[in-house]
Amino acid sequence: MNLILMGLPGAGKGTQADKINSKYNIPHISTGDMFRLAIKEGTELGKKAKEYMDQGELVPDEVTIGIVKERLSKDDCNNGFLLDGFPRTIAQAEALQELLSELGQSIDHVIHVDVPEEKLVERLTGRRICPTCGSAYHVIFNPPKEVGVCDKDGAQLIQRDDDKAETVKTRLSVNVEQTQPLLDFYDAKGYLVKVNGDQEIDEVFQDIQGFLDK
Ligand SMILES: [Zn+2]
Repeated sequence: MNLILMGLPGAGKGTQADKINSKYNIPHISTGDMFRLAIKEGTELGKKAKEYMDQGELVPDEVTIGIVKERLSKDDCNNGFLLDGFPRTIAQAEALQELLSELGQSIDHVIHVDVPEEKLVERLTGRRICPTCGSAYHVIFNPPKEVGVCDKDGAQLIQRDDDKAETVKTRLSVNVEQTQPLLDFYDAKGYLVKVNGDQEIDEVFQDIQGFLDK
């Protein structure tokens, strides 16, 4: 089963990816992990990618696609794969179509974990971090015993700049702009499955299973 997982930051993609990985025995391939592996293994493409990353530049598509190809050719992908964070652009999506057809394969489903933007703002801006021990809390979903204070060491919790409302809103709208064309691309091909991500984690996974087990 060849899957792509899509969703905005905070939609809970990582959690669902882990569940899909354990139930269906297909590797969860995130872009970051894929690059790290290629660099660690010292492949030619891994070396090229590292040069760009070291200079703080975007890795060009032809390098990224090559790394995806190397990764998807590994034995653990015999049952399929779950891509997360790739493709990011229509050009990458088209290259992936070509690559899969070279490998005699195709995408089965693109799962979109859909959560309304205002809910994501609530999830993402509620994070609080302890500057002393690094413990993470959430004002709604995982509050400390006393408001604003770390359970472990009593330090005052802080909100990281990344988690402030304006930053979160900007990050989300940039993401919406990037992902909408991809969602449309896969919808037009009939691959897209929209799952309501605004539910309990297990309910979201039940919906995903309900679809994949059909
Ligand atoms: Zn602490």
